[in-house]
Order: sequence, then C-alpha cells, then structure tokens
Amino acid sequence: MADFSADHKIRPGKILCIGKNYALHAAEMRSQVPKAPVVFLKPSTALVRDGGAVILPALSEDVHHEVELVAVIGQCAHNVSEHDALSFVEGYAVGLDMTARDLQDAAKRKGHPWSVSKGFDTFAPLGTVVSARDVPDPQDLELALTVNGINRQRAHTSAMVFSVAALVAWCSSIFTLEPGDLLYTGTPHGVGPVHAGDLLVATCTGLPPLRVRVRREAV
Ligand code: MG
Repeated sequence: MADFSADHKIRPGKILCIGKNYALHAAEMRSQVPKAPVVFLKPSTALVRDGGAVILPALSEDVHHEVELVAVIGQCAHNVSEHDALSFVEGYAVGLDMTARDLQDAAKRKGHPWSVSKGFDTFAPLGTVVSARDVPDPQDLELALTVNGINRQRAHTSAMVFSVAALVAWCSSIFTLEPGDLLYTGTPHGVGPVHAGDLLVATCTGLPPLRVRVRREAV
C-alpha cells in the first residue's frame, strides 16, 4: 500500500495522464471528445511537490497550466473492472499537467509523441495526497486554478468524459498499475500560458491546495 506518512517521498513508477477528458477542453483544443481514453506518460523526474517551482525550459516559449484531479494507486491492478476500480485508489491530490504547448502542437502536426512537451523536469506538480476514504465521490469535486490570484480554470469533476473508475479500469487493461503510480485525470477548459514569477494555486474540494512558483530555466 502507498505510505502517506512518507507522502513527500513519493516516487511513482508511472505517471499516467489522460488527454481530452473534459468536452469543453477538447473543444478549446479544436478537438473531438475521444471514444476511448487518450493516455500518455510522464517520467517520475517531472514530479514537483507543493511549495516547489515549475521551471520553464529553454526549448519552449509557451508553457501552459492544466489543473487536474490526481488519483494515487494503492495496490497492484491488472484488468480490473470499472465496478471495482476505485478500491485500487489509495488517495487523491490536486495536480498540474504542465504542457509546452508549442512543442505539443508541433508534435501533433508531425504525428510525433507528446513525451517532450509533457515530460520536462517539474512538469508534474502534485499536492499533498489525501486518503481516498476522505474523498467519498471523486466525480463530485470542484477543481480550480488561480494564477497570481486570478481565476483561470474552474470546473466540476462530474464533467469528466471518462470517470476516475473508468480510467483506472482502462489503464489497468494496458499497464499493470502499481502502488504509488499516479493518474492525472485530465484538465477542464481554461488552459493558458504561464510566465516566470507567476504563482499558481491549484485547488480541489477537500484536498490541500497546491502552490508552485514559475521560474525560468537558468542558462
Ligand atoms: Mg492534461
């Protein structure tokens, strides 16, 4: 089981992320809602915790915030049913799927993977994990993000295209999920650029807020 007493030491084997899981976000990306979950991965080196910094990489001129509910896997899950899926989730946190939008757009045009645009160091901020026992319904939470105190994203997790349970079940049919693996469940609409010096505060009902400061990579 995941050990929340050592929450600050989380080193997931996998960071799974879901694309286009809110219809209004798919629309703002000029995209369709997918028929099956869009799954991609980030390296564990992308993780940064509350109070840390998001480093803007020199390779990108357009890094965006994406606030997301994150599920933390508590036990091995392989081919689990949607009905049983939430029993494999040990906790929840609010997170940010930082995205180098210019690199992602270029990758999309070329049919290339998203790994570079999504995988830089510090591109997976993660708030403090709360036990799943204290989150009775992950589809009944309000997600929000402010940048320098100004609201940029606000949505309800009931608007997810695929529920957390459906996502865990789907991902477990591809990868064996292991304790400590993280699942970023997709962002609602309102994504936009961040700049050096910005303070990002991500919130989600019942979860501790996540605060990160944006910095430019030292060259
Ligand atoms: Mg995302």
